[in-house]
This record gives sequence, C-alpha cells and structure tokens, in this order.
Amino acid sequence: MAKADILPATPNAIAHAAKLLRAGQLVAFPTETVYGLGGDATNDGAVAAIFAAKDRPRFNPLIVHVPSLSEAEGLAAFDQRARIAAQHFWPGPLTLVLRRRDDCGVSLLASAGLATIAVRVPVHPVAQALLRATGRPLAAPSANRSGRVSPTEASHVAAELGERIALILDGGSCAVGLESTVLDLTGATPTLLRPGGVTMEALTALLGPIAVGDSDPDAPRSPGQLASHYAPRLPLRMAATAPQPGEALLAFGPHPVSGFVETLNLSAKRDVTEAAANLFAMLRRLDRPDFTGIAVMPIPDSGLGRAINDRLRRAAAARP
Ligand code: AMP
Ligand code: MG
Repeated sequence: MAKADILPATPNAIAHAAKLLRAGQLVAFPTETVYGLGGDATNDGAVAAIFAAKDRPRFNPLIVHVPSLSEAEGLAAFDQRARIAAQHFWPGPLTLVLRRRDDCGVSLLASAGLATIAVRVPVHPVAQALLRATGRPLAAPSANRSGRVSPTEASHVAAELGERIALILDGGSCAVGLESTVLDLTGATPTLLRPGGVTMEALTALLGPIAVGDSDPDAPRSPGQLASHYAPRLPLRMAATAPQPGEALLAFGPHPVSGFVETLNLSAKRDVTEAAANLFAMLRRLDRPDFTGIAVMPIPDSGLGRAINDRLRRAAAARP
C-alpha cells in the first residue's frame, strides 16, 4: 500500500475519512487518550485488517468507540450501575466492559470471541465528528505496532503504520496521552482491568469498592472464568488431514478435505486475514450438538495465521 495521507482534521478530511471507513478501510484518528487505529467495527474484514496492521500475535479484544451513550446501548447490555458510570464519565477516557446484546452488530472478532464488549465514548471533537460522520461504531486500538508505545501525535502513527493504512487524520497532540481506564462491569463487583485517564479514586467515589483485575482476558482471575473465554463446546482438533465420524470441518484453502458432515471454509484463497475475519463466526456456526467435533485444516503460522493458531490451540486445550 502507498504511504497514507496525513490530513489536518478539517470537515472535508473527516468526510473523506468516513467514506474510507464505510468502505472497510483503516483510518488513524486522534482521541483525548492516544491516536486510535480505526476500522468499521461491524465489518469482520476491517477488524481483521486492524490486527494485521498492528502485527498482533494474538486476538485480544478491541475497544469499540461510539458517539453517545444511546449508541452504546444498542451494542451492550447496560444495567443501572453501567448507566450511572457512563452518564458520569462519558464522553471521556473510561472504557466499560459489558455483555454484548444478542442483536449486537459488532464483529465477534472485535470481542475476540467473548460474550462481552468494551465500549467508550471519546470526548475529542475530531473523534466525535468522525464517529457521527461514519455512522458506524469504530473499533480502535492504539495506532502503533504491537509491543510499541502508544502514539500521541500524527507523525508517530505515520512512522509506525504509514504504509499499512489509508489515512491519518491530524488533530495535534493528544491531551491525556494515557490510555483509557478499562472497567469491567459484568460481575457483582466492578473490576479495574487497566488503569488510565479516569482515576481509581473517581471510580470508587461514584461506584463504591472496586476490585483490581488483569487486563489480559486470557489470564482468568478465577478458574470459573475460563468458561467465559470463547472455546467451542465441541472438541476441537487441529491440523486435521482426514475426517473422524460425525465431525465438521473448518477448512482452509482451495481443496477442503472431503468426508466431513459439514464444511465451512475460512479462506478458499489461502488468505489468513480473510480467515481471521471468518474465524469466530464460523466456529460458532459449527459448534452444534449434532456434530461430534470440529476438525481444522492446517493454517500457516505466518502473519495473522499465528494469532489464529494461538486461538485454536487455546480452544483445543480448554476441553476438560
Ligand atoms: P487497546 O484497544 O489497545 O486500547 O486495548 C484494549 C484494552 O481493553 C485491553 O487491555 C483489552 O484487554 C481490554 N478489553 C477490551 N475488550 C475487553 C473485553 N471484552 N473483556 C476484557 N477486556 C477487554
Ligand atoms: Mg495499545
């Protein structure tokens, strides 16, 4: 890809960015915390492209940005406590982890297959204008390659991701320069998953006692939590080259192995980004009680293939 344009965030540039985002492309934009690498959160392909651009070795869930509480309520289940937190701290640097609504239109890949979703309403005027112009929720992790520090200026984004995205909206330096605070409200006690722009003291003053958890959703805080991390109910068998009775196949490539009761193909053209976009939705469609198991064809361990294999290995190991 050619080097991304860097455009001052004028109304025209924001309209252009919105058009690119609706077409499934990636746009970096300023928020009050750090620059975000945005993609249409309802588009599996755009979300997969975010993971690919960042070189993420694993599918950790992404924060989904919306312009207001009412839009957030269309995606996640808000109880009274969540509504109070949102009314008090939004727009602003607080991310809430809530249960996905059944009719949540956000890509399962943005939730890394979890039943939960992380949502936030940013206060930055450029982020607000872009969300409203796009009319879609935007998945937006920090706009840096995996393992590098978060960017607080457009030039940082250009250095990290310039060749991998369509456009960078320049809105100057980020005011907070710290990531958003991530608060999990899915349990009985609110749990801080990541410290950030909103302080623990401010949260406690509003919500009462707060537990401190681990921001890595793959590091369960109690054994019982393991079940909430997406793994199919059926046994999962990797690197399958021949069927076993009653098994369904998750295929990869132009020549699916025959003899399975059902086959879905992650990518007939052997494209690991397309495979990532399809992974969670297809696993769910094959996770049926009338099948005996899910066999997965070998997937190359390169690019996003690494993250796919990591997720499959965890799902295969999650069986008792
Ligand atoms: P980033 O998108 O890079 O700003 O990081 C997002 C942060 O939110 C990470 O610490 C994630 O682990 C956390 N997060 C996002 N979604 C969830 C979720 N559904 N459950 C738990 N943590 C989440
Ligand atoms: Mg980050």
